[in-house]
This record gives sequence, structure tokens and C-alpha cells, in this order.
Amino acid sequence: MSSTPAADTRSVPATRPPTAAATAAIELQSVTRQFAGKRDVVVLDDVSLAIPRGEMIAIIGPSGSGKSTLLNLIGGLDRPTAGDVVVDGAHLARLSDDELTRVRRDKIGFIFQFFNLLPTLSSLENVGLPLHLRGWPRRKVDARARELLNLVQLGNRMTHLPEELSGGERQRVAIARALSIYPPILLADEPTGNLDTRTGGEILALIRDLHGRLGSTAVIVTHDMTVANSCGRTIALRDGRIVEDLRR
Ligand code: ADP
Ligand code: MG
Repeated sequence: MSSTPAADTRSVPATRPPTAAATAAIELQSVTRQFAGKRDVVVLDDVSLAIPRGEMIAIIGPSGSGKSTLLNLIGGLDRPTAGDVVVDGAHLARLSDDELTRVRRDKIGFIFQFFNLLPTLSSLENVGLPLHLRGWPRRKVDARARELLNLVQLGNRMTHLPEELSGGERQRVAIARALSIYPPILLADEPTGNLDTRTGGEILALIRDLHGRLGSTAVIVTHDMTVANSCGRTIALRDGRIVEDLRR
């Protein structure tokens, strides 16, 4: 028998009650991002934010307010100067570059304004690329990529190159690619910003539908108020700070 008094430790529960970090899909903990230059620019200034699992939120704000910077930090494409970002339980600031790459690969689907498709790859190959990089066998990769291209209604554009597709079609390929790993987190930076209103509306409806089906947590940066108003929650940024957090 140990002579150490046990009473002290016994009062501490074996499992600690869940923190916000454990229950939220995404949590920003006092995140600051500063860029060094002739004049240091504080692009995000002590931002804290918790996004529960399954939520679809819009981030709005004027150009230069820090929206893309925020999204890139959540997506592990960038690191905060101070503070931490917790994504699906992983504290990104504590991870090595390799670990961060793994989190990005396994948990995050990223959709960009300019699609970022590889120009020499077909739709099928672009969508399959994240799975290929994960070491999936060719047959499985192709099957999943076909399934997703059908889901975004591009079953008839499998072998087309990006340059042979319209803007809306390219974005649908990009969405299929972002979803190829069935990511728990879906991030979109102005996904409708380069599309006409009608196509933009269709892309948004598609993201919403997929978000609903896969139960992913979705964060959409937009300056389109129609897009923002259709999300359950809107965060407004101004000069690197959250100035509004609105739930509908
Ligand atoms: P938004 O997406 O809201 O338009 P960004 O997050 O792209 O804004 O940028 C916010 C501010 O940060 C801008 O003023 C921009 O010039 C600055 N910024 C972004 N990236 C860098 C960088 N790599 N170096 C210096 N300043 C940057
Ligand atoms: Mg931006």
C-alpha cells in the first residue's frame, strides 16, 4: 500500500469534462497572425472562435479584413504567430510540418475561388489525386472519383481537361476533389466569387447538399450576402477582429 494520501487525486475525475476544443470541430484560441515587413501588419488580432461539429458558417468582411488568412490557418496552410488552432482535436500549433500535412490530407477539404485544378489532369485524375497521394490503389481511386463526379453531375465530363470545362464545371470538379476523402472539415474561400450569379447559386446549393449528406463542418468565406444569409451562422471580420457573430 502506498503511503501517499490518495484523497487529493481521487477528487480529480479520471476523464476530464469535455472542453470546447474536444466538442468543437474547429476552435481558434486567441489566434494572432502577424506579417513582418517594413511595417508589421497584424492581420488577425487575438481571434477566438468555436465552430461546433456539423455547422455551416459564413465568414464575411471587407477585402483585406483577414478572411483568407483565417481560413488558411484553419486549413493548416499557414501557422499562427500566437495562439492555437484546434481542428478535430488536433492542436495545429504543436504539430511538426509532417504532422500538419497529415491533418490537412486526412481531415480537410479545401475549395478555392480559382479552383486550383491541375491543368494537365482530367476531371477524374484531379478528383482522384488526394486519394492517390494517400496511397489508395488505382481501382479504388477511380471508383471513388467516378462516384463523386456523378454526385456533382459531371459523369459526362470524366476525361475532360480543366480548360475544356466551364467555370461552374471546374468548380464542381474542385468540390468533388475536396470531398474525395470525405473530410470532416470543408473549407471554401469565395467558392462562388469567380462565377456568375446563377452558377454561384448552384455551386452553393451543391456545397450545402454535400455538407448535409456528409455531415461535414463547413466554413465558407464569401462577400456575397446571399451566400452568407443562407448559412446558419455568420461571422463578420473587420481589421482582423470578429465584429459580429450572428446565428439565424
Ligand atoms: P481577405 O481574404 O479578407 O481579403 P487576407 O486574409 O487575404 O484578406 O489578407 C488580410 C491582410 O493581410 C491584407 O491586408 C493582406 O495584404 C495581408 N497579408 C496577407 N498575406 C500576407 C503576406 N503573406 N504577407 C504580408 N501581408 C499579407
Ligand atoms: Mg481572401
